[in-house]
Amino acid sequence: MTTKHNFGAGPCILPPSVMEQAAKAVINWGDSGLSILEISHRSAEFESVILKTQLLVRELLNVPENYSVLFLQGGASTQFSMIPLNFLVGKQKAAYLDTGYFAQKAIKEATLFGEVTIVASSGDKGYAYVPDNYNLEKDVAYLHLTSNNTIEGTEIFDFPNSSVPVVCDMSSDIFSRKINVRDFDFIYAGAQKNMGPAGMTLVIAKNSFLETVGHPVPAMSDYRIFRDNQSMYNTPPVFSIYVSMLNLIWLKSVGGVEGIEAVNKKKAELLYREIDRSPIFTGTANVAHRSRMNVTFRTNDQLTEPEFLKFATDRGIVGIKGYRTVGGFRVSLYNALPLSSVEFLVQVMYEFAELKKDVNSLKIIKPA
Ligand SMILES: *Cc1c(COP(=O)(O)O)cnc(C)c1O
Repeated sequence: MTTKHNFGAGPCILPPSVMEQAAKAVINWGDSGLSILEISHRSAEFESVILKTQLLVRELLNVPENYSVLFLQGGASTQFSMIPLNFLVGKQKAAYLDTGYFAQKAIKEATLFGEVTIVASSGDKGYAYVPDNYNLEKDVAYLHLTSNNTIEGTEIFDFPNSSVPVVCDMSSDIFSRKINVRDFDFIYAGAQKNMGPAGMTLVIAKNSFLETVGHPVPAMSDYRIFRDNQSMYNTPPVFSIYVSMLNLIWLKSVGGVEGIEAVNKKKAELLYREIDRSPIFTGTANVAHRSRMNVTFRTNDQLTEPEFLKFATDRGIVGIKGYRTVGGFRVSLYNALPLSSVEFLVQVMYEFAELKKDVNSLKIIKPA
């Protein structure tokens, strides 16, 4: 079997050591004679897992004391409605920055609960950039941002100095770079892009923001209930939390967020350099807003896209086909993807470009 290089956009690649430990725990968790899949979430052993995961999140992201760290279910998509249900109902309106597919999904859900102002949109240029010049009305309940646009391949590098609470979907770049949690009142992320396997959603919320909810909310949508029950109001996603813990231990062992950020920068630079150098590929995102997690590009002649896809797939490259509504290619460079995989991909892109060069020069000699 060819070695696989997994550039998939999510669920993401996890470090081999994490997979091995997770696999062992499925059979016999720490010599307990039980599988991690069958232990009680109320057992002392699991309570220490959930506590440790929480502490790792706090440590790795430098989460201040006055923020709560919660583990929920339903993916980031459930947050699209849960956030306005909590923080928009009973308020004037909420502001959203429209930077692409997932931002739009968040906007659509929010309109079910109240008035939504779209402060700016990059839809005019196919979401190839992130608007950074916009006016924010003072009476909005919050401003919603998407820090990394997974499908379009753009990322926010300067967060606004906002006077209103900032809510941010960090699903696809959390733990990939340093952030200042204090810049936000509410952060959420589906686990499966950089934190662990699917099934868990991370929420980091400022306690005072949670207290602004002034109306009754169903228990399973009430952040305060999760906070007051240490994320165990009901059965939490035990396995997903456990594997996330293993992955965060791994992250800490490779230098934490700061350490991985340096590697992530290297990986992205290497790939963008080849895209910019290559006569046959073109990046689709504005250079200033290029994502370090999801790199989007096309071939200049779109007819060669299936050909490159096959060329790469034959060499063990997995998950680079662009999102179904966007086309082209999307290469995801999540934390666990080694630099060597990017070096390999760049080599394959180079070889393909050389091949095309020869074919093109042949065309010139060939009679029409
Ligand atoms: C993947 C993704 C989502 C959706 O996450 P689910 O956990 O599948 O609901 C939302 N926002 C962003 C930025 C994403 O990358």
